[in-house]
Amino acid sequence: MNNLDISTIDGLRILKVYDEVLLAHQIKPPYYFSCSDGLILLPRNGGNQKTVILDLNIEPHLINQINELYGPISDYVCTHGHMDHMAHVHQWEAIGAEIHAPIPEHTYLLDVHNFYEGFQFNEALDFSIIQKFAELNGYKNCKEIHPFNPGISFFFDEFEIKTIPLKGHSKAHIGFLIPQEKIFHISCLGFDQVKPGVDGFGPWYGFNECSIDQYLKDIDFAQSLFLEQAEVLTSSHSYIIKNPDITPFLYMRKKIEKNQIVVDQAILSLKLTNKSEVSLKDFLDMDLFFPKKKMDKFRYEIYNFWESGIISKHIERSEYLK
Ligand SMILES: [Zn+2]
Repeated sequence: MNNLDISTIDGLRILKVYDEVLLAHQIKPPYYFSCSDGLILLPRNGGNQKTVILDLNIEPHLINQINELYGPISDYVCTHGHMDHMAHVHQWEAIGAEIHAPIPEHTYLLDVHNFYEGFQFNEALDFSIIQKFAELNGYKNCKEIHPFNPGISFFFDEFEIKTIPLKGHSKAHIGFLIPQEKIFHISCLGFDQVKPGVDGFGPWYGFNECSIDQYLKDIDFAQSLFLEQAEVLTSSHSYIIKNPDITPFLYMRKKIEKNQIVVDQAILSLKLTNKSEVSLKDFLDMDLFFPKKKMDKFRYEIYNFWESGIISKHIERSEYLK
């Protein structure tokens, strides 16, 4: 196995995981939440007869070039309804792939208003803000989606891909286990080190529906699954890991723990002892997670919303509050 960059497409890095499995990455996403890495499964004897794409959300001109090089592409599987996993999926549809997306977030690919309501942005933000956010990330809606239940297996000809629910991140969020190749793609679970040692944000739980409890369970479960059933681990925003390296799991747990410390310290500095005394605004004003004071109004509103979600979850878990 070598993981050399074999890309001949400008702006794209393509690593060979195995002869017929490639991990692709758009080098410079045009906006913050417009891209995610994903897998290209090439046709093989006794397996899929056409190319299948797993959660590779990249700009349309790059999708066209992948199609020229590796097409025809029969199917595309999306892992969840966050913007960085949806924005450009319409282009995979345009080049002829059948689009599959997990219930209940499959509808977000059809209409951005479903994304707005589904993630409860509507409780705090005007729709126009989310429309602008979608537009900046290049979002266009798909025409037809084939919904599936998280946990099912896909069979592309003889080739099996198991979907693995990892719901702490979002209700629909799935990873992929490819038994034949012993690859576990943990998608957006929160291992976002682009290179060893380079820090990222870590696990993301900014929406109301996310759960830290569930997250910690998902991390433990994913670690066992990786050690017991896979040789290689890939994800939406990171480098390739080989069994028995458990760096991703240590990193994700550590990040959640550090976030708790940040909120606990804020609680102490505000001299709070009871949950009833908490005013979220005091915490948000401290810019604990995002440099919101430096943001324009549009970005400020969105990050404020996400940071509220993150902080509230850690307030709930704090040992310093009754
Ligand atoms: Zn996500």
